[in-house]
Amino acid sequence: MGRVLIVGAGGVGRVVAHKCAQIPEVFAEIMLASRNVSKCEEIKREIKAKTGREIKVAEVDADAVPELVALIKKFNPELVVNVALPYQDLKIMDACLEAGVNYLDTANYESPDVAHFEYSQQWAYRDKFRRNGLMAVLGCGFDPGVSNLFCSYALKHLFDEINYVDILDCNAGSHGYPFATNFNPEINIREVTQAVRYWVDGKVIETPPILDPKSIHFSFDYPVVGPMESYLLYHEELESLAANIKGLKRIRFWMTFSESYLTHLRVLRNIGMTRIDGVDYEGKKVVPLKFLKLLLPDPATLGTNYTGKTVIGDIITGLKDGKRKSVYIYNICDHAESFREVGAQAVSYTTGVPAMIGAMMMLKGIWKDAGVFNIEQLDPDAFMEALNRYGLPWQQVEFTGKLPD
Ligand code: NDP
Repeated sequence: MGRVLIVGAGGVGRVVAHKCAQIPEVFAEIMLASRNVSKCEEIKREIKAKTGREIKVAEVDADAVPELVALIKKFNPELVVNVALPYQDLKIMDACLEAGVNYLDTANYESPDVAHFEYSQQWAYRDKFRRNGLMAVLGCGFDPGVSNLFCSYALKHLFDEINYVDILDCNAGSHGYPFATNFNPEINIREVTQAVRYWVDGKVIETPPILDPKSIHFSFDYPVVGPMESYLLYHEELESLAANIKGLKRIRFWMTFSESYLTHLRVLRNIGMTRIDGVDYEGKKVVPLKFLKLLLPDPATLGTNYTGKTVIGDIITGLKDGKRKSVYIYNICDHAESFREVGAQAVSYTTGVPAMIGAMMMLKGIWKDAGVFNIEQLDPDAFMEALNRYGLPWQQVEFTGKLPD
């Protein structure tokens, strides 16, 4: 049916490439391009062995817009799936505009110099995409991504009005390393060391970072995996959902962290290893966090011995026919099963599968519009069905438990 160019051959890129290759009737031609072509070649060999399909590979520096535009024009895809790093978002959007092709990503733009997360710089592209008749879909992983869609699905089918949303992201898996991050270490550590923000009545409330003794956390009893300490954290989908879900009074995001992870991170922060400014080392500028990334396990390789599960979902409270109700919609994903299927752990899997499904929605014309969209602005039904079909089945139950006020 269509051609897709996937940019970024890390943990998530591997999953997107494998999943697209499993569906030749939608993804007729696939190209995987990244800064380091040997990673693309390794994934190409795995896909050939698993599915018998040949994918194309290429080397590209996505920060160099003319280089990426030339590659896009040569391969001529309908869509570019950006699973490189958030630093590349604006450059890849620029290249898509210049080459006249649609765009999808899984994480909002970040400047390398400031660990600040907000959609404003990507939302500023709305007019340009609209004028060019092109579509950009932002944040189409699990969270952001499926977590957004659970809200729009609930609003369409289960509620007349949504008032409270709590997104809970639990990783109850074990990779066997004393300390590792489940996606790009630099991006992950920037995200979890920042001040926490959530929304109440349209206003942003700021609370201490997860490493602070005053951080807000509670024990939540997750389906199948049981109780785990869950920390209030800022996550980018809060911003778009607060803007797009009318009637919302409060939205928060929680993530589980083990005591050991927090202790390692606290020490790294205290000794300056999480700094993102350059320090002089023997006449060279070194960014401590970038150096730390080199020393930590590559998240793309964690899958080999990963056991346990992720449980990610939304608890949504609102009104239906004048009555208040709460539902919990969630997915459970197994690290070892994900690894058996596509050679990646569940955090990469739960990000890559929604990115593939978003690409499918766009290639099939189910999502077809001009402009820049967060995925809760698009129809959820076919996507929700596809989650069940392509590896991320979800459950929906009445929620009768208690959350912190
Ligand atoms: P990785 O670091 O494993 O992979 C990133 C890939 O992008 C690497 O192959 C890297 O190349 C490549 N890359 C980096 N810079 C460039 C560039 N300038 N040009 C071309 N390629 C480049 O990260 P992950 O796979 O773990 O994460 C990918 C994305 O997914 C990130 O944006 C992350 O924030 C997002 N994510 C989203 C989630 C969600 O639920 N929404 C959850 C988890 C991740 P090289 O090999 O040379 O370093």
